[in-house]
Amino acid sequence: MSDPIRAVRGMNDILPDEAERWETLEELLRDWLRSYGYRNVRTPILEHTALFRRAIGEATDIVEREMYSFTDELNKESLTLRPEATASVARAAAEHSLLYGGAQRLYYIGPMYRHERPQKERYRQFHQVGAEALGFPGPDIDAELLLMCARLWDDLNLSGIRLQLNCLGSTAERAAYRRSLVVYLQSVEEDLDEDSKRRLHTNPLRVLDSKNPAMQPLIAGAPRLLDALGEESLKHFEGVQAILKDAGRQYEINPRLVRGLDYYNLTVFEWVTGRLGAQGTVCAGGRYDGLLEQVGGKPAPACGWAMGIERLLALVSDSGEHPCPDVYLVNQGERAARSAFRVAEALREAGFSVTQHCGGGSFKSQMKKADASGAPVAVIVGDEEAQAGEASIKALREERGQFRVPQERLADAISDLLFGTGEKE
Ligand code: ATP
Ligand code: MG
Repeated sequence: MSDPIRAVRGMNDILPDEAERWETLEELLRDWLRSYGYRNVRTPILEHTALFRRAIGEATDIVEREMYSFTDELNKESLTLRPEATASVARAAAEHSLLYGGAQRLYYIGPMYRHERPQKERYRQFHQVGAEALGFPGPDIDAELLLMCARLWDDLNLSGIRLQLNCLGSTAERAAYRRSLVVYLQSVEEDLDEDSKRRLHTNPLRVLDSKNPAMQPLIAGAPRLLDALGEESLKHFEGVQAILKDAGRQYEINPRLVRGLDYYNLTVFEWVTGRLGAQGTVCAGGRYDGLLEQVGGKPAPACGWAMGIERLLALVSDSGEHPCPDVYLVNQGERAARSAFRVAEALREAGFSVTQHCGGGSFKSQMKKADASGAPVAVIVGDEEAQAGEASIKALREERGQFRVPQERLADAISDLLFGTGEKE
């Protein structure tokens, strides 16, 4: 045997038992997003590296060390597997002048790639569902994006997911705050850890985001961004909060919440839970009013969030139920095998899901497979039935015996058996 080839570290195969849970969740997510008027957008998984460098920012974890970038030797251009999709959606909206048709509510679902240290609920290929509302200036859309998350937690029966909110203000306010933060951090520089020392000069706001416990007292002593905000920013922030309060939704203000990406301004938020160990953030987002212009579009305000699907699935309990076919089709003999294809297609045409036995084997072994499939009904086509244009029906989950019907009556007979009065043909 040759050496086994394995999946890339941090990138997971999602096998059928688990994939069924994914499909169920994805269907629910799409229905929920549509119910708020969000429309699907699908952008390429590869983008020019420059997009993420410009949109996310040079001095961020993602751009500094998490991107899968490579040179496409044929075109001599640097490409990157998308680490997130907000930049891509903004690029697509700008490139296709989507906002000339008015404000847009968009959503995406798909894989993202980040070269992180793999741990539980932290992978190198992971999946996000994201909503992006483009062209809306007011706090109402920020609140809508948050209220819809709250509804999702309710729909999924998830409790204990807390909303943390902050306001980053305008670019100018942030720049002024940044200066006072640097002065403070320099005054305690010798007590900073290595990461924070480096960030002090590249991206000082990120120091506030440090997860190192030793840094927490220093962070607590830092000036607060909220105290540096002007009237307009505060009004926007209060607007978001007023709608959340009206809706009876709880939130906490976390003045240290800065988010790791440079494009945010005004509202930022995270939904966090204690149920996922260290990886407690289920959903994160905020307002990014400068991004569309930055990627070459006309200036337009925008707000959005992204949710980790792996983390969401880890929170949703597994019902243990797997879908099974309505009918398992057993067939024996050469003539029967050919007839079986027609029978299976006709049943599917009539709306049944059918697993057709393939690969031959004895009648007994096929009936065992039928039983294991979970299907309530087996349809049996032997050479004798095929010759007569008939098929046999056997209920697998109750004692009803076996009976033969003409093939054109088969769908009706199965309906009667499954949903009807239970009278035998
Ligand atoms: P973290 O602080 O956990 O690294 P982040 O700020 O990098 O998160 P975002 O870029 O805001 O995360 O992504 C939004 C959501 O996507 C996260 O809240 C999380 O649920 C999910 N996510 C991000 N990175 C990963 C990953 N490597 N593996 C699995 N899920 C992830
Ligand atoms: Mg991260």
